[in-house]
Amino acid sequence: MKSASEADDELQAEHEALLSFMYMSPVGLVRSNAAGTIDMMNPLAAQLLMPLVGAHSIDNIFDSLASVAPELRHLVQRFTAERGPVCENHHVFVTPAHERAVVLSCSVFKIGADLLMTVLTDISRQVAADRRARQTESWLAAIYTNVKDFSFFTLDQHGRVESWNTSVERVTGYGEEEALGHTLSRFFAPGQFPPHRSPEHLAFARDQGWHVEECWCETRDGQRYWGQILVAVLREEDGVFSGYSVVLRDITERKITADNLKRLLTTDHLTGASSRAHFFETAEAEIARAQRNGEALSIVMLDADHFKRINDTAGHPAGDEVLKRIVSEARQTLRPQDMLARLGGEEFALLLSGIGAAAARQVAERLRVAIEAARVETSAGEVRVTVSLGCATLGESCASLQALLSAADKALYEAKTAGRNCVR
Ligand code: GH3
Ligand code: MG
Ligand code: MG
Repeated sequence: MKSASEADDELQAEHEALLSFMYMSPVGLVRSNAAGTIDMMNPLAAQLLMPLVGAHSIDNIFDSLASVAPELRHLVQRFTAERGPVCENHHVFVTPAHERAVVLSCSVFKIGADLLMTVLTDISRQVAADRRARQTESWLAAIYTNVKDFSFFTLDQHGRVESWNTSVERVTGYGEEEALGHTLSRFFAPGQFPPHRSPEHLAFARDQGWHVEECWCETRDGQRYWGQILVAVLREEDGVFSGYSVVLRDITERKITADNLKRLLTTDHLTGASSRAHFFETAEAEIARAQRNGEALSIVMLDADHFKRINDTAGHPAGDEVLKRIVSEARQTLRPQDMLARLGGEEFALLLSGIGAAAARQVAERLRVAIEAARVETSAGEVRVTVSLGCATLGESCASLQALLSAADKALYEAKTAGRNCVR
């Protein structure tokens, strides 16, 4: 049997343990009677309630919360059971519901006929995080449903489509059933990649973390588009490889713009022949390649004869027509891989890879004959034109672009002095 004083001591110790628990508790604890009059609260509760009471003291829990949760008093009044939860995790917005709202979670427990315990927790951070998560979710939903030329999906470890959403259908035309389980090649235009290229694309991504590729793609109903495919490696939290996430975009418009820009930069506006700058760049590279591989290469310079006279008699627009015709005759005479560039005015250059001196001379002569035979229809009537051509071939005495150009220029000058309309 315990003595009365021993029992008293135990009770005293228990009471102190409870007080120190309340004091240290990570939540705000408030004990009050049913009318809300507080007889005990811990420092955290005081700290949470302080901003709500202003200059007043914290005597009554309902009064303290009245400005933000006036319903609490009624909830308690309506609660008829002797014990139990009056409300649990009731959200109390201390400051308005914007991004940095201060929010308390409030739970009220009836623990005796005239005894309430109110538990207060600051849940502002969770509420903000929830809010951000919901916002991200709604942004993603907006992207999936509204962005027209993007699609997002994932591939499993073997490169097969694993997740699908409406953005995939919008870009590719393929529904869920038709896309799931297929490889990326499902979306490529036929003949775009040999079958081994698709796994290669993924292998690059696995090596580097991500990889971007562009190619012609085709929608389900056969519409071609220029697709950009970004593949990024997906890993679980523990770093284990789990598949790929893919962004497939229709960038046809951008490709058209880029192609146009490239054309603008590399071709002559009037005739469509290559530009001078493009010629020099290509010729340097071709000469280096020919020298490396021991292959032949020739350059032919072409200059229209008495062009000034054509301009003077038929007019400048007619002169322009003649220049265009020289280019179109050359196109028909040359191989597709031969380059024709307008170096300036009525002067052109041909870059003939793999062609030696004799063959270059033949090409030049064929072109001379074709242009001589041409009847150019212009607004000033029919105009005829002849050209003089000078050839030079890569060799020991002619081992650079500079040397080739000056040799061809010299030959052209000889053709002019020999009476024009001829090849030298
Ligand atoms: P040659 O037989 O000695 O080459 O005589 P040419 O008259 O052709 O030579 P010249 O260099 O004296 O004259 C070239 C003319 O080409 C002068 C210039 O006005 C004209 N020209 C240059 N660029 C253009 C052009 O873009 N369009 C037209 N229509 N004429 C041009
Ligand atoms: Mg001329
Ligand atoms: Mg000239």
